[in-house]
Amino acid sequence: MKSTVYFTDLISRGKDDSKVKKLERLFNRAKLGTKIRENDLVGIKLHFGEEGNDSYINPVFVRIIVDMVRKQKAKPFLTDTNTLYHGSRHNSVDHLETAIKHGFDYSVSGAPIVIADGIRGDNWVTVELGLKHFEKVKIAGDILNSDSLIVLSHFKGHGMSGFGGAIKNLAMGCAAIPGKLEQHECAKPIVASSCSGCGTCVGSCPVSAISLYEGRAVIEYQDCIACNNCLDICPDSCLELDWAAMKPFMEKMAEYAWGAVKNKHDRMGYVNFLLNITPDCDCVSWSDRPLVPDIGILASTDPVALDQASYDLVNQQPGLENSLLIHCHAPGEDKFRGVWENVDGLILLEYAQKIGLGSRNYELITI
Ligand code: SF4
Ligand code: SF4
Repeated sequence: MKSTVYFTDLISRGKDDSKVKKLERLFNRAKLGTKIRENDLVGIKLHFGEEGNDSYINPVFVRIIVDMVRKQKAKPFLTDTNTLYHGSRHNSVDHLETAIKHGFDYSVSGAPIVIADGIRGDNWVTVELGLKHFEKVKIAGDILNSDSLIVLSHFKGHGMSGFGGAIKNLAMGCAAIPGKLEQHECAKPIVASSCSGCGTCVGSCPVSAISLYEGRAVIEYQDCIACNNCLDICPDSCLELDWAAMKPFMEKMAEYAWGAVKNKHDRMGYVNFLLNITPDCDCVSWSDRPLVPDIGILASTDPVALDQASYDLVNQQPGLENSLLIHCHAPGEDKFRGVWENVDGLILLEYAQKIGLGSRNYELITI
């Protein structure tokens, strides 16, 4: 069965045609308000951006969604979970500071922020799944406590999953820290034989899992938390992911995404922003040049259809010449593989469909 995905472009020539008005129309047309009941505690799930990143969703757009939720006489709050890696969002105190620095103050967004897994990431609840990789998953407590969720995702590239959109926002974004670790566990870095033993990577590891032994770096895998802090550190690119492990990694993400929504599948709405389509996710502390021109905003009640439509729209674009794209510049070619050539993001969509998270078959309605 086809799912419906609504799309608005960015052509804007007048007050009634501004992007914020278009976003309001998109919310209404996709009937996202029907997912919300009076007095609901409505989590607006988003990513506040790692400090140094500037391509996260504009707080002005978030304010529109907050106002739309209030029109339903419900109670919106902005939410995300703490990160596995040790950056500017690893605990709730740092996370709130970063969110406010990035413009998600109440005075702008109109809603309070609740970090859904507690100040140190230990507020989580087990959800039974019984799937291939996980019997049960560890989802942030206040994601499960919310009555309904509107999931706002910046659609962009990702070094481990090719792209990141709504499914990744549910999977990694709604898991508590131990749940993120469970997903990442199969994706720990390996040290290439060309390692010179310079030692640069040793201090980058937050859990001291890297040491030097007989002139080269060694990772203690029982200590490694797969945070990938060390990946970009090596001056000779000797720390790499085990690309063969990416398929189970993506399947695990799809299972976690299902765990986040399975108890309120009918109380969810999704919006993807195809703006600033950078090579990396907003977890990195920079924002590189986009891979393709800005495209528009999409909404649906099916996260798989929404990500599939977003992926297709990106790939229909010509790649930007001065971007990180190595190849696949032509319209129709996979822009994410043009950067992350070892990763096939379609694995995530295929497996998400297989376990019942949604459908890759969609009808795109332009409003
Ligand atoms: S070895 Fe690398 S991936 Fe593992 S915990 Fe240390 S920094 Fe993180
Ligand atoms: S930074 Fe690279 S070359 Fe230096 S010790 Fe670490 S892995 Fe080896």
